[in-house]
Amino acid sequence: MAAGAAASNEPRLDAPITTKWRRRLTGRLEGHATPVDNRQIADRLEAFASLLELSDANPYTARAYRRAAETIRGAGLPVAELVRSGRVRELRGIGRGIETRLRELVETGDIAELGELERELSPDLIGLGRYLGLSTKRSVELARALDVRSAGELREAAVAGRLRGVPGIGPKTEARLLEALAREGEPRPREGLLLNRAWELVGGIAAALDGEPAGDVRRWRDSCEHLAVVCAAPDPGPVLARFGSLPQIVAVVDQDERRAVGVTVEGVPVALVATEPERFGTALVRATGAPAYVAELEPLPEARDEEAVYRALQVPWCPPELREAPFRAEPPALVALDDVRGDLHCHTTWSDGRASVEEMGRAAKERGYDYLAICDHTPAVGAVRGLTADDIRRQAVEIAAANEVLAPFRVLRGTECDILPDGRLDLPDDVLAELDWVQASVHGGQRMPRPEMTKRVEEALRNPYVRCLSHPKGRYINRRPENALDLDRVFELALEHHVALEVNGLPDRLDLSGDHVRDALRAGVEIVCSTDAHSIRGLGNMPLSVATARRGWATAAQVVNTRPLSAILEKPR
Ligand SMILES: [Zn+2]
Ligand SMILES: [Zn+2]
Repeated sequence: MAAGAAASNEPRLDAPITTKWRRRLTGRLEGHATPVDNRQIADRLEAFASLLELSDANPYTARAYRRAAETIRGAGLPVAELVRSGRVRELRGIGRGIETRLRELVETGDIAELGELERELSPDLIGLGRYLGLSTKRSVELARALDVRSAGELREAAVAGRLRGVPGIGPKTEARLLEALAREGEPRPREGLLLNRAWELVGGIAAALDGEPAGDVRRWRDSCEHLAVVCAAPDPGPVLARFGSLPQIVAVVDQDERRAVGVTVEGVPVALVATEPERFGTALVRATGAPAYVAELEPLPEARDEEAVYRALQVPWCPPELREAPFRAEPPALVALDDVRGDLHCHTTWSDGRASVEEMGRAAKERGYDYLAICDHTPAVGAVRGLTADDIRRQAVEIAAANEVLAPFRVLRGTECDILPDGRLDLPDDVLAELDWVQASVHGGQRMPRPEMTKRVEEALRNPYVRCLSHPKGRYINRRPENALDLDRVFELALEHHVALEVNGLPDRLDLSGDHVRDALRAGVEIVCSTDAHSIRGLGNMPLSVATARRGWATAAQVVNTRPLSAILEKPR
């Protein structure tokens, strides 16, 4: 692949759409009258789930089929046998409806409705529609009105000027669609994918193809637009073919000898690079870094792995999270997941969490942590239950009981205390004084003008019991912009009053962001990597928080919860 090939990894919309859907979904499996092994059965159910999603059917139905596919893939017994002997419903997640489909599949080798859906929906066309920002319903209407059957035919009809004859399509919409169809390069989802979803998607594809995740995901960007997988393949043919038949990919929109671009059911493009093994490292560096970072390193030498590429460049290896702006120096030793000794922000059934104090504590202990702070909400949070002073004291009894069982692991008494609009806290100081860890949060009234919002937060930072400011900017990625808050002023106060700033690990928050972490650390402020878990599973978001801190160049010494319990219990003033 030539230098600068990263740019040409972009899909080109003028390329013919290739799709293997018809054969993959409705054709009989080669060499077998019926699907025989669990993987084949699971693939068919997965395909059915994708089509159900495309048809705007009840999303729970599609999800049930996906879950059933997962169960079957992992089942130790031949599922076809279970179906024949009438015992398949003993498997988790297989109900009567799915059993009926399975019987049809095992007995006839096909699911008739799957074929019908496919004829009605033409997945490549729907995939292209989503890519252009059309709903499934709208794409189907458009296809009917234009009497087209495929994405290629839709493209031809549009270019021939036939769109304007379709009811409901005005000159503006036509111009927008034509422009989108003609645009070369840079086709992106309207909004980036959240990091957890992007990892699930790209990680899943990489695992299925025995490749490496690359692009925005590998740099742990908070919103991922450039999704890529790099595979080492002496012969790219089989890898490209498998890519096109993955359940995650509904249509391949561009392909050449060693790369392809597929789109997901949401219309998100994913690039596959199938490189010669001798150049794998080169391709990975190119597909991982931000364009400016890669461009500054070019021309890249050819090498099998990344380390060798960097060695040949005489540049120290750079963690992917830092590959944004050009950088050739020795990177700092960034904080790592293993450095984290506890989680300082989580919820339980006392407020809006799904697990009890003891269940959360046990799960944190099983993660290898030394401590976990229970930080349930206070009444002013509004939308969900909040704990009063009395509740907090009753919760102390439950926390003490959990500590009896879990020692030497320590469940800490904490709170996520609302900051009221005037800057006062939602719990009296005598209660806060009893607690091991106090988070302060702005929840309601976030549209305040900047001076008022800044003053509100400043007041809270002056409270002697506050240890950490939660999700300081209050953003929800793709949903709500950041609060108007003077962060520089917050840094000053935080430094003066020994308050740390949170890097909230909820995938739709990631707040502070990497850039803001960097600003905070430059100002001398410490950070906390927390999950804000509302369930046992939520504790698993720590990698998102740590990676965001790494994007802000944080070292372990700058992250409060890399320290032992004794340091957490020591109040700084
Ligand atoms: Zn909160
Ligand atoms: Zn919270």
